[in-house]
Amino acid sequence: MLGGMQHWPLRIMRLLDHAEREHGRREIVSRYAAGNTERTNWRGIARDARRLARALERLGIRKGDRVGTLAMNHGRHLVAWYGTIGMGGILHTINPRLFEDQLAYIANHAEDRVLFYDQAFAPLVERMKSKWTTIEHYICFDPADGSGPSTGLGTGFEELIGVESDDYRWVEGDEREPAMLCYTSGTTGNPKGVLYEHRSTVLHAMMEISTDCLDLSARSVALPIVPMFHAAAWGLPFAAPIVGIKLVFSADYTPSVMCDLMRSEGVTHSAGVPTVWLALMQYVDGTGSDLAPLKVVTIGGSAAPRAMIQFFVDRGIRVGHAWGMTEMSPIGTVGAPPADWDLFSREQQIDYIARQGRVPFGVELRIVDDVGAVLPRDGITSGRLQARGPWIIERYFKDESGPAAEPDGWFDTGDVAVLHPDGTMQITDRAKDVIKSGGEWISSIELENAAVGCPGVAEAAAVGVHHPKWDERPLLLVVRKPGAEVTPQAILTHLSQHVARWWLPDEVLFVDSLPHTATGKLLKTALREEYKNYKLASAA
Ligand code: ADP
Repeated sequence: MLGGMQHWPLRIMRLLDHAEREHGRREIVSRYAAGNTERTNWRGIARDARRLARALERLGIRKGDRVGTLAMNHGRHLVAWYGTIGMGGILHTINPRLFEDQLAYIANHAEDRVLFYDQAFAPLVERMKSKWTTIEHYICFDPADGSGPSTGLGTGFEELIGVESDDYRWVEGDEREPAMLCYTSGTTGNPKGVLYEHRSTVLHAMMEISTDCLDLSARSVALPIVPMFHAAAWGLPFAAPIVGIKLVFSADYTPSVMCDLMRSEGVTHSAGVPTVWLALMQYVDGTGSDLAPLKVVTIGGSAAPRAMIQFFVDRGIRVGHAWGMTEMSPIGTVGAPPADWDLFSREQQIDYIARQGRVPFGVELRIVDDVGAVLPRDGITSGRLQARGPWIIERYFKDESGPAAEPDGWFDTGDVAVLHPDGTMQITDRAKDVIKSGGEWISSIELENAAVGCPGVAEAAAVGVHHPKWDERPLLLVVRKPGAEVTPQAILTHLSQHVARWWLPDEVLFVDSLPHTATGKLLKTALREEYKNYKLASAA
């Protein structure tokens, strides 16, 4: 028996319809790579998405076909998202920072038929073209001369949609139909595709605007620093239309450009990985400029160091420390301060924000041991973190090896975590990054975070290297701040105030830079490889 209420499929295009109808005049501002700023609004995005949907049909694209994008954040990219999904296509955002063989693999695996790309990536597109076997149409978002293509690779975006009317009705269908495809960056093996649905995306978006998540409202002006190709810019382009957020995009990540844009457009909310915040913090510290009127920043993708949290809190900016992954649409947890944190000292509050937050409704978490037995949420025991919920993966795209989750929904995240009795979750490490010393685990994340709290340290990475007695011991690789003369001894002294004695790195080495993944995280696999034969003096 069914209930007596209406069936209103949770389709993504209803988000845009709502924004067009109810928040049509709220602006979408884009600063393009060439330095020009363009302004449109939700009405303009909806109109252009309908024109693009028509254009894609004219190119012969059909429901279920994949349409790729290789682009930074801007309004035309947003139009491409909604236009593709609106005509029943599956939007596939491609991370341009991937290695070329991964780029070849994912576009071919996705069987993309169209590629929208930024002029800045034209040389990459030229190189890749012969390796991409399914792409029939290349469309440049921002051709150099402002209208037509400059590379001989196909049409310009405005030219493509310019000839279309906006008379179009979105393709309808079941709410569980696919809408978007994102590949994990695959630090080992081939990247894997995660196929988001209309329903999962809408539910995630509805959750995301809430006060305890990203705290978005009709008054918010949001600048997603997280790229649209990194787990759908953490869902912001889908959450934004619900309350008619003014969106500000920048294809240019130079800190001065970002800061100017934040001030001139009145940005209140922003989100990004620690690496980009680090660059912004250094710029703000160096120039004395301020971040007003920023109110809430969401930091995720890798652990937010305490010093970074402190930086924002000192400026009266709320930090939402978020944890998630491409397989989770991506939000799994996010930290908003519950009432009892008000009673804590400033130091304690930062300790709590440094954990990875709490689940919103829609996510369940548990930790298990190596044989799958569920472990207590006691704030002490750590185990493999598993998650389930309506926006969490069931199976990877075209994966013959079977479901990614257990039959009852539990998906193993590959992270190791502690669950605290108050509901906060604390990532101790990625399962493959923990340093195993004498049968016990040392958290590389905690060592790194403690190290960047030491004056003079810009960035740090802890890796386990072989030790004949202990199996592995930590080696700390440190990038010093420009001009800083901090010594290994000073770093060890600082660390000893924050971690157990037996966790202290056996050695500290200074390096000029550390390798990062395509989404801006420390590339631990490369570091482990580089230092795999490193001989610690303590091992002699
Ligand atoms: P990838 O970079 O592998 O493509 P994701 O961006 O989906 O994929 O990364 C997900 C992983 O990033 C998580 O499993 C976790 O290890 C790590 N991560 C994300 N947010 C945090 C956080 N706040 N603290 C620590 N680790 C995090």
